[in-house]
Amino acid sequence: MNTAPAKMHSTMAPPRLEIRNIRRFFEGRAVVDDVSLKIRAGQVTCLLGPSGCGKSTTLRMIAGVEMQDSGEIYVDGKLICDTVFRVPPERREIGLMFQDFALFPHLSVADNVGFGLKGSKDEKRARVEELLNRVSLKRFIDGYPHQLSGGEQQRVALARAIAPRPRIMLMDEPFSGLDNRLRDGIRDETLSLLKEEDTAVLLVTHEPEEAMRMADEIALMRGGRIVQQGAPYNVYTHPVDKAAVAFFSDVN
Ligand code: ADP
Ligand code: MG
Repeated sequence: MNTAPAKMHSTMAPPRLEIRNIRRFFEGRAVVDDVSLKIRAGQVTCLLGPSGCGKSTTLRMIAGVEMQDSGEIYVDGKLICDTVFRVPPERREIGLMFQDFALFPHLSVADNVGFGLKGSKDEKRARVEELLNRVSLKRFIDGYPHQLSGGEQQRVALARAIAPRPRIMLMDEPFSGLDNRLRDGIRDETLSLLKEEDTAVLLVTHEPEEAMRMADEIALMRGGRIVQQGAPYNVYTHPVDKAAVAFFSDVN
């Protein structure tokens, strides 16, 4: 038997985020049932599936605000959570963005984006300006959330989530509250901003079209399980079963 250690190569580095065999039961029913996923830095993985299939519950366990009943979560190959050991949410270096993840109404745009940043006042200000420039909202730096449109607030929320340079970015249907006219622009802007940052993105959506547009990898979920996984084109052109065909063709 070859017992020599495997030679490490950069492409063999552990994934930024790995969840292994995660399960979560509610009232005796497995709402997340043996889910495993690997996400590399610089990649967007879409957890795609109909309402109620367990997407948000999966995200909450990764964020650490809910505990799995079995399975493990690793960041850069290091265990951060199993059923006995648990790194608390605030030490997971995870950025969150939800549809209704409101800005702090009493804080200026600058203070919203700078919230939770470490460093000197000048360093924080520089990072806030950099991000507001990137989302084309520098002119609102001293404004307040109520002065912004829904789309603008969403871009500030994105800037705020990215500002602390999270290792992992979790996004739960972040665009579903926006009207169609705005949505495509914000999706593209979000994607280009995320790709510049050294982060691994897990985007939850029930819209195949959004997954096709944004994902490097799609994990198709149904009834708590991942039923198919692969590059968007492959998943779309080779649906795993009739239910997957129906799900993809339901898009308007
Ligand atoms: P999705 O985000 O895909 O719409 P969720 O993860 O929110 O799905 O929910 C998956 C299933 O788990 C649903 O049937 C939901 O009703 C159930 N569920 C979620 N949270 C709880 C809870 N705290 N208690 C009981 N059932 C829950
Ligand atoms: Mg949900």
